[in-house]
Parts: sequence; structure tokens; C-alpha cells
Amino acid sequence: MEQELLTYILIIIGGGALSLCLCVYALFRFRQAPGGKYYIITTFLASVFNFAYLFELTSPGLQETWFWLRVEYIPLPFIPAFTLLMCCDYVGQRLPRWVYYVLFLIPLATIVMQHTNEWHHLYYRAISLSTDTPFPVTRLVHGLYFYVHFFYLYGCLAISVLILLWQMRRVRWRFRMQILTMVAGLVAPVVASFFYVGGKSPYGIDLGPFFISVSFVFHSIALLRYQMFDVAPIARDIVFESMEDGVVVLNENGVLVDYNNAMVDLLEGLNAQAIGMPMMSLLDSYPVLREKILLGQECDYECERRAVKTYFRIRFAPVRDKKGTPVGRIVIFANITEQAQLEEQLKYLANTDGLTSLLNKTALMQRSEQAIQGLSSEEGGPVAVIMFDIDQFKQVNDTFGHEAGDIALMHLAATAREILDDQDIAGRYGGDEFVICMPGASVTEAYELAERIRSRIAGSELLVDGETMRISSSFGVASVQVTPGDRETSVQMLIRQADHALYAAKRMGRNCVQVYG
Ligand code: GH3
Ligand code: MG
Repeated sequence: MEQELLTYILIIIGGGALSLCLCVYALFRFRQAPGGKYYIITTFLASVFNFAYLFELTSPGLQETWFWLRVEYIPLPFIPAFTLLMCCDYVGQRLPRWVYYVLFLIPLATIVMQHTNEWHHLYYRAISLSTDTPFPVTRLVHGLYFYVHFFYLYGCLAISVLILLWQMRRVRWRFRMQILTMVAGLVAPVVASFFYVGGKSPYGIDLGPFFISVSFVFHSIALLRYQMFDVAPIARDIVFESMEDGVVVLNENGVLVDYNNAMVDLLEGLNAQAIGMPMMSLLDSYPVLREKILLGQECDYECERRAVKTYFRIRFAPVRDKKGTPVGRIVIFANITEQAQLEEQLKYLANTDGLTSLLNKTALMQRSEQAIQGLSSEEGGPVAVIMFDIDQFKQVNDTFGHEAGDIALMHLAATAREILDDQDIAGRYGGDEFVICMPGASVTEAYELAERIRSRIAGSELLVDGETMRISSSFGVASVQVTPGDRETSVQMLIRQADHALYAAKRMGRNCVQVYG
């Protein structure tokens, strides 16, 4: 009998001492850490509870037992509240003010109800000492209010567990262990309590105080081994995971060490199994990207993601150890789609004539010049220029109005675009004048093209405010044979010649094509 009681006494003393040690340790080590101050309070309350229970267990009579039972109920009802606050603080979960009131009012009511039990017997219906056990153990018949305390306790613990598990979803696997250890610490006293309330504990001894100590063993493991309150890596991890930029971490041999969620979106099939594999082998189906990463220089990368064109700026940063020795590198994929689209739009606007959507004069001249230079720097070849405008356009404006004139200009541009080839460079030269530069085209080809546009324009009718508008256009064609190394030929010169031919077409009565010379 003595032996068994001694065992339980030692267990309870051990539990109390452990709680107290952890309390002191926490006081010095992580008072300021998230959840730290609640951890200190909880361990302190638990150690008081343990020691009070120790005295209850060793009480010689009912009087002393009842005294220590009441002492136990000063710290005990607050333990679940502080445990919940610890978990909330740990994961940075803010609670509304009313929750604090509820959290502390219920324990206060519990203390009052337990301490005044003699008057109403709502907490314990009966208290006695067992005589059928090797040593006297308190026998309690619980009253109605006890279950308020009971559900409050499990409510707090369940919410704490849920909050921790919720946090676990967001962190990486290496931090999950510390959260799981923390959860195990919360679950331990719950299991014990079920045994106690269900009448399954040895001799009806309340295993709660002991298992609360066990829970602190878990917490101490979490604390010492997994740095439970070291929130910085968790925070860093959350930042890493929630980054919009894709990130991969490679070791010095180019082996994949880590990646974030955004990267999974970028490289199809990237999963945990890829960790430890050479990055280059993971990029087998991305030859362009493979080349760029192999080169290791900041660059832009364009790809299709879910049928949407996406642009990335790829940056590289070395990873160094504490001594500054390179141990790997980080590759960052910054999504610059919006910026790239904006740039493209700006470029388009800068090069395009707003009314006709053909090239504007500057872009037309630049591209034509480039095309001619391209011919002269290679094996040479013909180049032709067509210049055309609307006949009697002033009259069109005067008769149908300026807006109708705009419609005529758009119609002419659209007709030309329909007939042109990809390599032809077409733009609005100014007013109602347009120019088409045709690298590689002979004079005959240019003449035929001009003739096709002319006849289509002449044959079309435009309906403006219910009135039929007919327009015609005149064309001047010029061409030249560019020789390799040719520095004489310029688009300016060809346009001048085409303008001469156009002038001739006007003199010939308009609505025709004339070739220079
Ligand atoms: P021609 O047959 O000899 O070319 O006679 P024209 O009347 O067409 O004479 P010209 O080509 O010199 O006239 C160009 C006119 O185009 C002058 C101007 O009022 C008009 N114009 C220039 N830009 C625009 C424009 O953006 N919209 C409209 N509606 N008219 C324009
Ligand atoms: Mg004109």
C-alpha cells in the first residue's frame, strides 16, 4: 500500500517539479516570444495544481482533503483559458474582446461554485474518502455545474488543437513536427481525464495533474527540440510559401533543395519527390528555361500558363553559409506579366497610327530602313515601295463630313491590310497618304498588288448616314535592286520616287497605278 501511494506521490511531485522548472526556464528564455507569457502562467498554475493535489492525496481525513481540493480549484479552472491564449498568441490569432470575458468569467464562476459547494451541492453532490483502496482516495459525485467546467475545459482544449492544426496546414513539413508535438501535449490530459471521469483510473485517482505534467513534457520537447516558440522560421516559411514569385533553392551541385508553392504552378509536375534531383533533369521538358538557368544570368522568360501568355524575370542569388562560402543558389521567378503587357501596349501605341492601326510614319520608316539594310547586308534583292492616297479626299470630307472621311481612311487601310503579305511593311505616311514597303518584291509584284488594292477600293461602296459613299485611290510605285553592301538605297529615296509616280497618276486622271520612271 505504502509502495503504491509512494509511486503516485513521486509521479505527482515529478509533474509539479517539471512544470515549475519549465516555468522558470521559460521565464528566462522566451518571456517575449509569442505565446511565451501564457506558457509561463500555464506552467506555474499547473505546478500549483500538482502540489495541491499531492497534499490532497496525502491528506489523513476528509477535512484536509476538502481544503486541498479547494486550493486545487484556484489555478485549475484557468489552465484551459491560458492554454488557449497561448496557442492563439503562438499562431498570431487575435481574439475578440468578448471571448476574453467568457474565458475568464467561467473559471471565476467555477471557483465560486466549487468553494461554496457546501451550500448548494451543485458542484459535488457528495464527497467521501474511499475505504476499499490501499490508501484513502477522494470519491466525488459530480453535480450539475461540474459539467460546465468539464465542457469548458474540453472546449478550450479542442479549440486550441484546431487552431494549431489550422496553422499546420500553412507551414512546411519540417515545422509540422513541432506543432504536432504541441498538439500531443494538449491531447494527453484529455485522454487521462476521460479515464478519470469514466471511472477507469486506478483506484479512482485523478490522473489529470499527472497528465498535465506529461503534456508539459511534450511541450518541453517541442520547446527544446523543435523550438516551439521560435516563430521566426514559421513566419519566414509562411512568407516563402505565400510569395507570388516562384523560388527554387539549389545546392552547389545544382540539386533541388527546396521550392515554394508558386513554383509548383510554374513547373508542372514539381512535387516533393523532386527534392534531391538535379534541377536540369527536372527541366527536360522546358528546353528554353533549362538553357536560361544553365546560363545563370538575369533574363526574361515567356511561357504559356493555363493558355495565358505569362512573362517572368529570372534572377539568381548566391546562398552562402555563415563563413561566406557559397553553398548553393536561389533562383527567383518574378511574374512580370503585367509590366510586360504594359510595355507591349506602350510599344504598340508608340508605333501605331491611332485611326488606321497601321504603322505610324516613324515606325514605317524605321522598319523599312531595317528591311533594306537587311537586304544589303545579306545577298541583296529587289525592294519596292507603293505610295497611295485617296482621290479628291478634301471633297469627300466636304460632302460627307470629317467623320465619314475617317471611315474612308480606315476602309482604305483595312483593304490594304487584307491583301498584304506578312513581310510587307505598311503605314500611314500622313493625311490621306499611305506607304507600303515590300522587301524582296519586284516592280511587277508591287504593281499587281497596288492594282488589286485600287480595284477593290474602286469597286466598294461605303454607307454613311444612309448615303452611299464611293472613293477611289491613286498609286505610285518605285522599286530598286539592292546589292550586297549597298549604302545608297534608302527608303526616303524610294518614297520620293513613288510620290513622283503618284503625282503622275493624279495627272493621268486618278484611280490608277503609275510606276516611277
Ligand atoms: P488629290 O486627289 O489630289 O489627292 O486631292 P485631295 O483632295 O485628296 O488632296 P490632298 O490629298 O492634298 O488632301 C488631303 C486631305 O485629307 C486634306 C485634309 O483635310 C484631309 N485629311 C488629312 N488627315 C485627315 C484625317 O485624319 N481625317 C480626315 N477626315 N481628313 C483628313
Ligand atoms: Mg488625296
